[in-house]
Amino acid sequence: MKTRGVAILGSTGSIGTTALQVLERQQARFHVAALTAFTNASLLAEQVARYAPSFVGCVRAPGDAPQDWRTGERCLVDAATRDDVDIVINAVVGSAGLDATLAALEHGKRVALANKESLVMGGALVSAAATRGGGTLVPVDSEHSAILQCIGSRPIAEVRRLVLTASGGPFREWSRDQIDGASLADALRHPTWRMGRKITVDSATLVNKALEVIEAHFLFGIPYECIDVVVHPQSVVHSFVEFVDGSVLAQLGAPSMELPILYALTHPDRVSDTGVLPFDAVALSPLSFEAVRHDDFPALGLGLQAGRRGGAAPAVFNAANEQAVAIFLEGAIRFGDIAHAIQSALSRFGDAPSGTRDAILAADAQARRHVQELLSC
Ligand code: NDP
Ligand code: MG
Repeated sequence: MKTRGVAILGSTGSIGTTALQVLERQQARFHVAALTAFTNASLLAEQVARYAPSFVGCVRAPGDAPQDWRTGERCLVDAATRDDVDIVINAVVGSAGLDATLAALEHGKRVALANKESLVMGGALVSAAATRGGGTLVPVDSEHSAILQCIGSRPIAEVRRLVLTASGGPFREWSRDQIDGASLADALRHPTWRMGRKITVDSATLVNKALEVIEAHFLFGIPYECIDVVVHPQSVVHSFVEFVDGSVLAQLGAPSMELPILYALTHPDRVSDTGVLPFDAVALSPLSFEAVRHDDFPALGLGLQAGRRGGAAPAVFNAANEQAVAIFLEGAIRFGDIAHAIQSALSRFGDAPSGTRDAILAADAQARRHVQELLSC
């Protein structure tokens, strides 16, 4: 049987390395066709030696990188549009993933999307690219994978409400004052998931959940007023779907990205040899649920408002957050400054033009500059 070619954009990151582990067990179905990284040339070289992809890209490759590696930002799009690539796992972090998502969909590829930022920034553009090129978008995010599985083949008109679960992050039980002054080490101590640094901080502010609500809106075409968030500290229930008759379905599993990654590759099929441990309800219990403390995690509300506002607002929310988190990761600002910076950028640029890729990128750049200036005062 011919195996399907997979490109992993961001192969050296948390999702990228997990995706490679998943593919190792699935060699009868898939092969690694292309790999890309940003700067981590040494890990990329190890992966190239092991998986022998036909294309290697390293955006900022060191001078001694192999001659046949592609370099520069364009290498993501080049990897995503190759003829020998059937599926693109977009596991790049941040807005750098947008062009590759658009290009892959324009070229009719299946995009297994971890890079939620590209959908948040350019939801309408992404849908249009898929329609034009015949590509399909399948979520890697565990909540959206759960929703996809729960909806199954039912029409969207039968869905009354989505309820996304959130672990609550490391500050779930902290007071607002403690949260505002939290250190970088505190923010990076996620209770249930091991992930890259940016999404780990996003999980502490609950920005990640706002990005996920916007992601769900675009993926499933559900209005914002029909998408709720509930805190679920154990991260075992990956999300709920409530149907019009009041019936609620959920998808459960131990917190691991292996299954959502694999399902994004095989959807709607299920395969048996996954290595996923048997489900043990007793070992995973008790399962508990709490209301979101919106007053103490203001960034979530800002993101939800940006989603409802539409246009460039989600892109501005995303860009302001990316810039503020980058500065927080350098240790230069307080944790509470992230939400302030987002609020400030949204009040200035939330209504910027958004009809084209260039307009979205202009709004993104304005928001970043604004946050940089605001936080360097
Ligand atoms: P990581 O930071 O661990 O990995 C990011 C990857 O992207 C690395 O391979 C990195 O290369 C590459 N990269 C970083 N910046 C650029 C750039 N400007 N251009 C091209 N490549 C770049 O992140 P995660 O794997 O945790 O997250 C990736 C995406 O998946 C994010 O959008 C996140 O929100 C989403 N996601 C992650 C989950 C998780 O469990 N980790 C769960 C659900 C979604 P290098 O190593 O060379 O720097
Ligand atoms: Mg998620």
